[in-house]
Amino acid sequence: MAPDLVIFDCDGVLVDTEPTSNRILCALLCEHGDAIDIPTTIEVFKGRSMASCTTLITERLGRMPADFWEQYVARTNRAFEEHVAPIPHVVTALDAIPAATCVASSGRYAKMQITLGQIGLWDRFLGRIYCAADVARGKPAPDLFQYAARQMGIAADRAVVIEDSLPGVVAARAAGMIAFGYAPPGTPATAQTALADAGAALFSDMRELPGLLGF
Ligand SMILES: [Mg+2]
Repeated sequence: MAPDLVIFDCDGVLVDTEPTSNRILCALLCEHGDAIDIPTTIEVFKGRSMASCTTLITERLGRMPADFWEQYVARTNRAFEEHVAPIPHVVTALDAIPAATCVASSGRYAKMQITLGQIGLWDRFLGRIYCAADVARGKPAPDLFQYAARQMGIAADRAVVIEDSLPGVVAARAAGMIAFGYAPPGTPATAQTALADAGAALFSDMRELPGLLGF
């Protein structure tokens, strides 16, 4: 049965921000003495809330540099204001989904206003955009997806989640929701296996999504 609510993650599902975000995060970590590379940065940090990332950075560096997030936010905002692309065919997919939709992201509202704004989706989702700051615990905890469904007035078991990261899929399943894992061509096999093992049904092209949802 087709769902009543489709909850979209933002980064890597609506907007193609992950390569830029991970490149900047990796560079900052290296500037602070971490010998991390980009694939490891993606593996460790992708899909997590800032609070969760702070814990991991503190573990890696032995401290949390005072202006780390300030630097990260300034650099990513600058990059996204210059350019950000939609995930291929995501607008086509949205146009073909008659159910209610909303956004639930580990990112910040201010960033989503820039990124979703750049691709014309901020206005489309306005009033239905939720982020980690809305709840006590970010992904991989189920709180954000449960909160989004409550705000939309739809039971968790009538909602599905579209995600591209492991913490997001774990959060969706913990919330009792079906998870679809977007793994475009080029997604490492290990990442695909991790998403599938966490309980996501994988797909690789947004044009497949409406059909997968039963529309
Ligand atoms: Mg994501």
